[in-house]
Amino acid sequence: MNETARDPIIDFHAHAFPDALADRAIAHLETSGDAKAFLDGKVASLLGSMDRAGIAQAVICSIATKPDQFATILNWSRQIASDRIIPLPSIHPKGPDPVGKARLVAQAGLLGIKLHPYYQDFELDDPSLFHFFRVLEQMGLLVVCHTGFDFAFPRDRKADPVRIVRLLDKFPSLRFVATHAGAWDDWDEVERHLLGKPISMEISMALERLGPKRGREFLTAHPADRILFGTDSPWTSQAETLGLARSLDLGPERERRLLWENARALLTLPPVSK
Ligand SMILES: [Zn+2]
Repeated sequence: MNETARDPIIDFHAHAFPDALADRAIAHLETSGDAKAFLDGKVASLLGSMDRAGIAQAVICSIATKPDQFATILNWSRQIASDRIIPLPSIHPKGPDPVGKARLVAQAGLLGIKLHPYYQDFELDDPSLFHFFRVLEQMGLLVVCHTGFDFAFPRDRKADPVRIVRLLDKFPSLRFVATHAGAWDDWDEVERHLLGKPISMEISMALERLGPKRGREFLTAHPADRILFGTDSPWTSQAETLGLARSLDLGPERERRLLWENARALLTLPPVSK
């Protein structure tokens, strides 16, 4: 076994569902997103995939598509949390009492939340959400946010690089992670507004489309401590996505930071509860 094989690789963007819902959730998402899942959506299957790919830990990003899903997702997140599974529950920012819900997430010992501006129908820099983001910033909760366009929705600019910059100018200490190499399928704008800035981004669903040359350019132009490996499993194969990341030949240090060191730093900083 070489050094790389022992690296405790972290997938910063994966999905799974409660066993009883997984079949229905995957079927629904396959239809609405016109995509084919690589796994059946269950946590056990994700763990099996992680074993096959040599991935030590995965961040499970749940999405509350309706405000009242919060409690169910929070409970399930508590149940599946383990040394290998790091669940991020989800708060609907426009539902009732998002601030109170953020406190419940912190009290449950979970590290943060996932937001999805399309499924949750908000614009990232909407001033009516500033109070919520201010509290998230103060609490030190991680905010992993879908950014860029989404397969399943019209191309409204709900979470594009300009809005990301506006939000983070306002909340510079917010522990924000942009997904999909800054903004899915809006990579010219990523180059214009995000690359090189101290903004954390994970790379799922991006290398396949950017191609090796531009993918490598992105990951070398961005600060080495702000890049995170992610797969969006089950919507890609974890092993294949990891292979793509490794094939970019980023050099041992940048690759180590991408595959696990930066993720570990984000995941081990304890949230400051208020
Ligand atoms: Zn995803």
